[in-house]
Amino acid sequence: MVSHLLPTYARADLAFERGEGAWLTATNGERYLDFGSGVAVNVLGHAHPVLVEALADQAHKVWHVSNLFRIPEAERLAERLCAASFADLVFFCNSGAEAMECAIKTARKYHAVSGHPERVDIITYEGAFHGRTLATLAAGGQPKYLEGFGPVAGGFVQVPFADLEATKKAITDTTAAILIEPIQGEGGVRVVPPEFLRQLRQLCDEHGLMLVFDEVQTGIGRTGDLFGYMHSGIAPDIMALAKALGGGFPIGACLATAEAGKGMTVGTHGSTFGGNPLATRVGNAVLDVVLAPGFLEHTRRMSLLLKQRLAELKDRFPAVIADVRGEGLLLGLVCVVPNGELVTALRNEKMLAIAAGDNVVRLLPPLIIDEAGIADGIAMIERACEKLSHAAQPAVPAAV
Ligand SMILES: *Cc1c(COP(=O)(O)O)cnc(C)c1O
Repeated sequence: MVSHLLPTYARADLAFERGEGAWLTATNGERYLDFGSGVAVNVLGHAHPVLVEALADQAHKVWHVSNLFRIPEAERLAERLCAASFADLVFFCNSGAEAMECAIKTARKYHAVSGHPERVDIITYEGAFHGRTLATLAAGGQPKYLEGFGPVAGGFVQVPFADLEATKKAITDTTAAILIEPIQGEGGVRVVPPEFLRQLRQLCDEHGLMLVFDEVQTGIGRTGDLFGYMHSGIAPDIMALAKALGGGFPIGACLATAEAGKGMTVGTHGSTFGGNPLATRVGNAVLDVVLAPGFLEHTRRMSLLLKQRLAELKDRFPAVIADVRGEGLLLGLVCVVPNGELVTALRNEKMLAIAAGDNVVRLLPPLIIDEAGIADGIAMIERACEKLSHAAQPAVPAAV
């Protein structure tokens, strides 16, 4: 069958018709264990009753009114995000890239209204991923994504991953901000050392720069804390969220301190859909579950269990897995075999996992995963590794 979808994705020939918790049922009736969560989105798994109830209830009331009016659900979600973070102000949008666009604009505008319109440059890190709009592609700096799309948006300076000296050298009179993911997700689950984040905070304070965290992938419990920055003991000035914020309903957010957001006044930014009643009602329902007592403790316990079992598999299958890294339930298997082969082998065992840069396979189970789900997952990874190890054995020379 000819598909009329723009062919920008290399899709697996697999479609799903329903899901429950960490499991998805394909159109052919086969069940898959979802250790991809739609790329860190389905934070509460599939068809979580609290989310289903919130969505259905709101659908009977009002979906969309535009930002020409007050939206109580959005005000409540913003208030809760601020109460749970460093921030005072929130702008809602519909995706990670849009959240990052707002973060970039907020950082530049801060300097413009502080009397320094020349401070526009943002320092970013090799291996970063910030989205697919023209500005966020320039921020990510990956040649393979920029090629063929015309002039690269200016104002981004890239330095090697977690390199303090290079960061210091890159700071000039035109620097506005430093932008970093606390853990590079697409880049291959590369964890930024907390010490480096603290050093960036200090650098930003010394030079009057905005510290911007892209927590589109790490935010909303993925790392075992509500936000990935929390274990570092410092906080950014501006932060982008999306993926897990709606548990599968599209919503993004840009958070800022009152000072960082001081330039974003009436008319400076906007979004037709951003923060509509339906999206923000679901966002509130996600927080109802994730902020409930014990939820993040559960995530951390499951993370520990999964990490331990993965470390055992790494020791048993050195021809397949070179290393296990990550935080919370954002874990990466650094592969010896090509990562695509492991993703395929896992899918053959009925597990969904996601490839990332640096030859890594990402494991992103929903945070509601339980011990039985982890045991099932480990058994699938074990079988996939057995098959790949077997295939990797040098062929026995035929007897002559
Ligand atoms: C996914 C992702 C984005 C882009 O989000 P979209 O919703 O696809 O626009 C940006 N930054 C990070 C860190 C991401 O993981």
